[in-house]
Amino acid sequence: MPLASQQTTADMILSNGKIITVDDRFTIAQAVAIKGDRFIAVGTNQEIAPLAAPNARRIDLRGRAVIPGLIDNHLHLLRAATTWQKELRFDGVDSRKQAVQMLRARAKSVGPGQWVYNIGGWAYQQFADDPKPFTRAELDEIAPENPVALQESYYQVFLNSRGLKALGIEDNAPDPAEFLKGSIQRDASGKALGIVKGDIAGTRAVANKLPRVAPDQLEASSVALVEDMNRAGLTAAGVPGCNADVLEIFQRWKAAGRLNIRVFCIDGAAAGTPQQVDRSIQQIAQMKLFQGDSYIDSIFFGESVYGPLHDPMFALKSSPQPDQLDAWRRIAMAIAKAGMPLHVHAELHDTIDAFLDQIEAINKEHPVKNLRWALAHVNQINASQLERMKNLGMSAVVNPWAVINGGIMHEGFGDGAYDMPPLRTIQNSGIEWGLGTDGTAANQTLPFTTLYFAVTGKMAGGTKVLRQTISREDALIAHTRNNAYLVFQEGNLGSIQPGKQADLLVLDRDYLTVPADQIKDIKPVMTMIAGRIVYDAHTSVAQASRPVSVQR
Ligand SMILES: [Zn+2]
Repeated sequence: MPLASQQTTADMILSNGKIITVDDRFTIAQAVAIKGDRFIAVGTNQEIAPLAAPNARRIDLRGRAVIPGLIDNHLHLLRAATTWQKELRFDGVDSRKQAVQMLRARAKSVGPGQWVYNIGGWAYQQFADDPKPFTRAELDEIAPENPVALQESYYQVFLNSRGLKALGIEDNAPDPAEFLKGSIQRDASGKALGIVKGDIAGTRAVANKLPRVAPDQLEASSVALVEDMNRAGLTAAGVPGCNADVLEIFQRWKAAGRLNIRVFCIDGAAAGTPQQVDRSIQQIAQMKLFQGDSYIDSIFFGESVYGPLHDPMFALKSSPQPDQLDAWRRIAMAIAKAGMPLHVHAELHDTIDAFLDQIEAINKEHPVKNLRWALAHVNQINASQLERMKNLGMSAVVNPWAVINGGIMHEGFGDGAYDMPPLRTIQNSGIEWGLGTDGTAANQTLPFTTLYFAVTGKMAGGTKVLRQTISREDALIAHTRNNAYLVFQEGNLGSIQPGKQADLLVLDRDYLTVPADQIKDIKPVMTMIAGRIVYDAHTSVAQASRPVSVQR
């Protein structure tokens, strides 16, 4: 039923659709009315039609499904802007043949001598037609005139001869000093294979040397990034480490009323060494969160508290030491004392247990129950840990790395990888939790690929890697309404309800009825943020057919 009074006049009406509201009762409606930046009514065509102002914009959805804008609870969005325009991204590319074509085309378009590269967001196991690594010789053949570096998640980087040369890696010569010992793969004769391997610590030496977007191109790169996110259906994100130079651009857009993605920063000065702990505690006392609004805000301390306890991405096991945990607890105690929310990277079983031990101790001195503390990634979490978190009022920021890393994780963890993350256990625990990616390096960024993974257990490319799947309704709630809570915007975002901000997606097919294997192929035909259309497939050159009928 529409809640708005008849005097209220909507300036936009969307009707004749299947509005999947994701409200508490998962109501399906036909039509929705928007005034300014907010929904004012949701109901049947007959209920909504009379609310239109005489000059209202009317969108005939022609039966299309509509869902709330998708929110990623942990996406390194602003960092990505510093490379996005230069990266050749493989998000959503499930054919190796296509990837090779993209490499050839990029080499041609950037011209001889220029880098062709990406920094994560893919793994070769996603290539359904031919899942195998790239070789130095192959990349030499594809792009003989360009240095090439293709970073698979944080696992390894594939390089061609020009790429090796640009990084100072020579055959039969000592490794350059900045490379982690043993990370440069060589054959018995000392020839470099064109692979640099070894988690973040190993791959970082390559990524650090790849060119960034020039300062005068940063805004254009940011625009391209946000357009890609809108096209994929993303309208908001929790963002670890908000880069100041990029944030300034976003602030400028906001002031001009044209910010097309909401950014909720997860920030803070973690200590990397024992000597830095006191400094970190002092900085916490100075930090101020929640000075912003529903477009840009700072909401969490995170995503790291104490560097030595930050689980490496592909580590199989952790063993947190007492002195490290003392340092961790001192910093986290300061965060609790300051009354701040905490969002902390915690991945492996023993790390999660150790953090919970510390938080339970902190909770006795400075209660954290109402501070919305959260553990992020949690691919190895279990039922008893979820129960402990629930008792502490904590939530789970779930970032299934297996969406692209499923093959690598199965090599490392064996059968255990089928429960990483244990989505059904998390869902059944009743804890507050949401879905995100941890893109753009550790993971791909497309939210419909994440939803497909959660519902089918299949990684990008279609290999089954997860046993604990969930219903498509629960997956959608986890990517919308639950994430609104995880960015402190549950009053404004996450569902299509009167009073909330008008963020929505019109879809090219019905998320609730499309065969599960096609969820990854769903494309928004329109993305709206705060009542503004920020992406319209009709005006995009990529789409020929008119998606919905708009009277202007
Ligand atoms: Zn992390």
